[in-house]
Amino acid sequence: MLLSKILRAGVRCGVRLQSSSAAASASLSSSDRSAAAAGFSFELTEQQKEFQQLARKFAREEILPLASEYDKTGEYPFPIIKKAWEIGLINGHIGEEYGGMGLSIFDACLITEELAYGCTGVQTAIEANSLGQMPVIIAGNEEQKKKYLGRMTEEPLMCAYCVTEPGAGSDVAGIKTRAVKKGDEYVVNGQKMWITNGGKANWYFLLARTDADPKCPAGKAFTGFIVEADTPGIQVGRKEMNMGQRCSDTRGITFEDVRIPKENVLIGEGAGFKIAMGAFDKTRPPVAAGATGLAQRALDEASNYAMERKTFGRAIAEHQAVSFLLAEMAMKVELARMAYQRSAWEVDQGRRNTYFASIAKAFAGDIANQVASDAVQIFGGNGFNSDYPVEKLMRDAKIYQIYEGTAQIQRLIIAREHLGKYKK
Ligand SMILES: Cc1cc2nc3c(=O)[nH]c(=O)nc-3n(C[C@H](O)[C@H](O)[C@H](O)COP(=O)(O)OP(=O)(O)OC[C@H]3O[C@@H](n4cnc5c(N)ncnc54)[C@H](O)[C@@H]3O)c2cc1C
Repeated sequence: MLLSKILRAGVRCGVRLQSSSAAASASLSSSDRSAAAAGFSFELTEQQKEFQQLARKFAREEILPLASEYDKTGEYPFPIIKKAWEIGLINGHIGEEYGGMGLSIFDACLITEELAYGCTGVQTAIEANSLGQMPVIIAGNEEQKKKYLGRMTEEPLMCAYCVTEPGAGSDVAGIKTRAVKKGDEYVVNGQKMWITNGGKANWYFLLARTDADPKCPAGKAFTGFIVEADTPGIQVGRKEMNMGQRCSDTRGITFEDVRIPKENVLIGEGAGFKIAMGAFDKTRPPVAAGATGLAQRALDEASNYAMERKTFGRAIAEHQAVSFLLAEMAMKVELARMAYQRSAWEVDQGRRNTYFASIAKAFAGDIANQVASDAVQIFGGNGFNSDYPVEKLMRDAKIYQIYEGTAQIQRLIIAREHLGKYKK
């Protein structure tokens, strides 16, 4: 049976997941309800295990064997994305009323970790859809959701999140793209940079400045828009050649007198900054899950290699220096998984998870880099060579410390949230 049928049938039957929101838990099956009632638990529900297994099978059979080739060519992995869409591995978090499955962030993270195990270039292309959709999910009105989210469940379409500019990434309030209201439209001029799915998107979430007064606070100065990608005046730049995740499509986008109808404003003028930042509470847990999937892959590759490669008459895994390195790698992977699951679970409970989301994103991003680099070390000379899988993992890992808030920005957020608890 197709995965989408299994997933959709599960949702239709009212079988919901332990991590789902309070509203969703009203439709838990009796066994799931008793599991949820038991309180703290590391056990996935039967349905979550099923999601995980099916995503694992897809990643290992459909993504992993092609990952190296996509890395070499840099071609966009649309055939894989289309298959993933067909079997329901994309857009699961879109509400059922718009054709999605209404999955929790926790469940989406389980799927993301598995996809990332196969190739994080593919996973990032898929994840960028969730990032582009999230402002609409959290702030769109009924009509906007029906039109733009509904479209994604009817066809395998991509979307993108356009915030970063050549002159401002971490400092989001420094963006210069301007939107000026003229009658029933806004006219947009400016330039965006590093936009994942930039050349493949059907529509964009766009953040632009609507209040020209430099003294206007960020919380009021910016507006979030939904923009059709084929609107006249949009120019998509060349595909950027990145260090890793090379099949993901990253581009600059120029907006020149682009006219956006006022119906495409999210919430209202001035609400954009909070929407753009608020999306991260729901998208950083999956980014951390992706980094964990990469780290797990590096650990598996290194462990298998260490059991087979012999030096001085024994497998290198039998040298304590190597086995301890593997033990350190395993510790990091397990803790990253717990961190992303906690951050996802918190937001699914309807609680503000900014602190946990930044901890998960920062930790998983850092350890993915450490574990991938250690895997290269364990492979020795072979690790440095592209005939073996780990050098790609090391290149792919780096972006997890940069996009969706750098490692330093996560620490700023964690420190702010932490110290806030001590304010008298
Ligand atoms: C492959 C890729 C895909 C991306 N996808 C998207 C996308 O889909 N949509 C989108 O909008 N953006 C996207 N980005 C942009 C990404 O989010 C930014 O690159 C990132 O936020 C960092 O911004 P920056 O590059 O301008 O670096 P800068 O903000 O210039 O930072 C440079 C360095 O200074 C550090 N730094 C900055 N400020 C501070 C501070 N206050 N304290 C301590 N250290 C600081 C940073 O941590 C970093 O190390 C993508 C980027 C890449 C490379």
